[in-house]
Amino acid sequence: MTESNETVRMDDVVSLCARRGFIWQSSEIYGGINGFWDYGPLGVELKNNLKALWWQKVVRERDDVEGLDSSIIAHPRTWEASGHVEHFSDPLVDCRACKKRMRADQLDDAGACPARQGTSEHDWTPARNFNLMLKTFVGAQEDAAATAFLRAETCQSIFLDAKRVRESARQKIPFGIAQIGKAFRNEINPRNFTFRSREFEQAEMEFFIHPSEREKWFEHWLAERVEFHRALGFGDDRLRVRPHRPDELAHYANAAADIEFRFPFGWQEIEGVHDRGDWDLRRHGEYSGKELAITDELTKERYVPMVIETSVGVDRTCLALLCNAYAEEKLDDGETRTVLRLPLAVAPVKAAVLPLAKKIGEPAQEIARELRRSFNVFYDEAGNIGRRYRRQDEVGTPFCITYDFDSETDGKVTVRERDSMAQERIPVEGLRAHLQDRLEKAR
Ligand code: ATP
Repeated sequence: MTESNETVRMDDVVSLCARRGFIWQSSEIYGGINGFWDYGPLGVELKNNLKALWWQKVVRERDDVEGLDSSIIAHPRTWEASGHVEHFSDPLVDCRACKKRMRADQLDDAGACPARQGTSEHDWTPARNFNLMLKTFVGAQEDAAATAFLRAETCQSIFLDAKRVRESARQKIPFGIAQIGKAFRNEINPRNFTFRSREFEQAEMEFFIHPSEREKWFEHWLAERVEFHRALGFGDDRLRVRPHRPDELAHYANAAADIEFRFPFGWQEIEGVHDRGDWDLRRHGEYSGKELAITDELTKERYVPMVIETSVGVDRTCLALLCNAYAEEKLDDGETRTVLRLPLAVAPVKAAVLPLAKKIGEPAQEIARELRRSFNVFYDEAGNIGRRYRRQDEVGTPFCITYDFDSETDGKVTVRERDSMAQERIPVEGLRAHLQDRLEKAR
């Protein structure tokens, strides 16, 4: 058996995603809308599993991080205080000849100009700043006073709610607040499938600390987050940490690092870990007029806490998982199988129950019903068994359970593993515990 993942092409991943119901372009029947994506039956399971894993590691397994689910639209002053109204923009250029619109720092991807025969070079306008925040109106008036923004990142409400969370949850510095939710950016060139979208999901955690502990907590969280990605199966050849150069750092930041994944289109950021200093709380304190400094109970020192942030893109990580998992294998019998080697914890379907023939469907359905109490299970009785296995391999189902003509007499089923394709006979009685054990061990 030979295997190839090195040559994974985006086209293969994109086409599998649409064909098997992971992800496709939003509003397809109207020709699509650029930068927006829909997650289908398998995609939503994958995404939910990833979010649950993040929540488990970042919130539930720690007693120093609390969860939050804030509104998408916040008071418009929020975005003035955060600096987004003034600074959250990309440089935009237009080609005077073909009207193509590009980010000025991504012109290498523009290709030739179709309207300038002879030179085929674009005729770019000077760059101008384009603010990436999406606007809307709140209330019946559509004027400047009613303008609000769809959040460009989920973290700002964490800063607005920090005092309330700290007091209600009886937390002390150091502690963190985590949130998963939608963010919106009017990206000039959405591209690379879901990698750069206009609507996407972030999982962010802001950790509030004493100013003397910036380095310690930055290192701690960077290590935690790298470990998380490693556990998703991203090896050294696919994952790296890129510390920001001093000239890349925001003026208030001490340190920042991108966690990058090697996609078929190159090394790209999937998560940022940032030391944001006291910038956010200080600014929101100034703009709201509320006191956001705290007093240390022991030393009576009064200070504005500093913040270490971890910010991961849920969609980008799903895409990394899909690219990392996709493989085409040449089997010994000369056939090729497509297999998604997704980690068990995120696989959309954990087990497929497949009766060998329709006429023994009833007891097989009973097994599926029993397993569904614990996992997401798919039941399929149509078509040849080899083809049914392949369909499950292609969507990353770790276990296929076959109910055959012996099952009725020996009370056993065949459990086939996705990766090794090894098969073993397991008593129906112990099946749920067996699978549970396997899934637990893989965590
Ligand atoms: P980039 O430089 O790629 O635009 P960024 O540095 O602006 O990203 P952050 O503001 O640090 O990104 O956002 C944190 C995370 O949110 C990113 O690591 C990424 O995973 C995700 N993210 C940001 N913008 C997008 C987008 N347009 N589409 C999908 N995910 C995004």
